[in-house]
Amino acid sequence: TEEILLQWEKLSLMGQMAAGVAHEIRNPMTSLKGFLQLIKSSKELNNDYFEIMDLEIDRIESIIKELLTFSKPQKTLYTYVTIQDLIKQVILLMEPQAVMNSIHLKTNIETKPIEIFCIEYQLKQVFINLIKNAIEAMEKGGTITINLIKQGEEVVIQIIDEGTGIPPCILEKLGEPFHTTKENGTGLGIMVTNNIIKNHHKGKITVESQINEGTTFTITLPIKPKLDS
Ligand code: ADP
Ligand code: MG
Repeated sequence: TEEILLQWEKLSLMGQMAAGVAHEIRNPMTSLKGFLQLIKSSKELNNDYFEIMDLEIDRIESIIKELLTFSKPQKTLYTYVTIQDLIKQVILLMEPQAVMNSIHLKTNIETKPIEIFCIEYQLKQVFINLIKNAIEAMEKGGTITINLIKQGEEVVIQIIDEGTGIPPCILEKLGEPFHTTKENGTGLGIMVTNNIIKNHHKGKITVESQINEGTTFTITLPIKPKLDS
């Protein structure tokens, strides 16, 4: 039943997203078509057209890539995973990007192993999304702090950055698709993140942000979820 329910939730989520995605992909498609017409009807070829077309194709590609990570068929579904190992793997993965941006990843992680019942690749995606956003918000470098503590029957994980902070207009709509402040952003990362956390036995995600001070994302996951809830 758990599996069937999950499939349903995913399907309905995909349905909601489809409309937005169709809309978002139609824009670059329209402009691609327009430039093709221009090229067909003009005698000299303008290289600027190709440049723009190239960028529009990149944009479509990044939207599709972000969606694919989310809809990848799940072979394994839920397993018990030591959350500390999962976090450490993600940090290792993000380290090169951090170093390139003069960012130090500082960790403060409970040493006693904590097992979480989760879909491993989805939880990894969550922390990749959040750390990636943190790095992208810290152009001048600095420190990203990753805390993991056990609090009763829950594990609390925080990603704290010293970046630009989230503008109020974006914060208001955080989690809605396609709200991005980045030239090459998709505005899908937080939406995907929210849905994964919600699907993990009603995990919670909250955000606190101060302009020019930084942003803290806090994720709370139950350690022993009630499997019938
Ligand atoms: P994307 O990263 O593709 O823009 P996301 O859904 O990951 O999409 O993020 C949406 C927007 O939220 C970002 O464009 C950015 O404006 C804001 N945001 C998210 N995380 C942070 C952060 N840690 N610091 C500052 N802004 C952030
Ligand atoms: Mg992002």
